[in-house]
Amino acid sequence: MAIQLHCDGGLKNDEGESLALECPYCGVYANMAPQAVPDAGQLIATRPKHVGLVYQCDACRAPVFLRFAIKEFGERHVELYRNFAELERPSERFAFSYLPRATEVLFREALSCYSTNNFNAFASMCRRAAASAFRDMGDGGKMRAFDEVMVAQRIAELDDESFAPIKTIIFEAGGNNELPLLNRTQAGVLLEIMKDLFYQSFVRRGKLTRALKVRQFFVQEGSARGA
Ligand SMILES: [Zn+2]
Repeated sequence: MAIQLHCDGGLKNDEGESLALECPYCGVYANMAPQAVPDAGQLIATRPKHVGLVYQCDACRAPVFLRFAIKEFGERHVELYRNFAELERPSERFAFSYLPRATEVLFREALSCYSTNNFNAFASMCRRAAASAFRDMGDGGKMRAFDEVMVAQRIAELDDESFAPIKTIIFEAGGNNELPLLNRTQAGVLLEIMKDLFYQSFVRRGKLTRALKVRQFFVQEGSARGA
């Protein structure tokens, strides 16, 4: 399992191996073909620690930038570590238009923190987005939200201990309550719980109300024509 840049012949992967990932532009999990590859001779001469490669998404043809750490320099080739950093991550999607205005602004920023791997900034913005949503939901809104989150915990079969930081972030705003530090996995759980909470609290109601209004409109139109 090796990725090598050769002085003659450019990029060489192990036989039959191709690179596939979620494209930051079209969102499709697609095959990526090398598009711009640095010159191995120049790397051997300058010996940088990292190197950037440009791939092309097979689905939308957009350029996708990846950074690799260099494992070793040979006489005529450079070997790269297989792990790479994606310079642009796919952005998280949500039906933002159904959220109250302030919640929308805060949750958009939360998701943008998540997409750039700033998980604790993400957690802080989730707390602000949640607090703004509870204000909008009025009396008992926070309690209803708490029930929704409990249902989500049961559905996802998450144990109390690993779920505690998620609840602290969403519900324990104010006073001296510190935010727990989150790792990637916990941030992923928080992301899904926040999306589910906002979906249940705003998107579901908004979509249903809109759909019913449309139905009603056609029924009225129909009876007006029939009359
Ligand atoms: Zn694409």
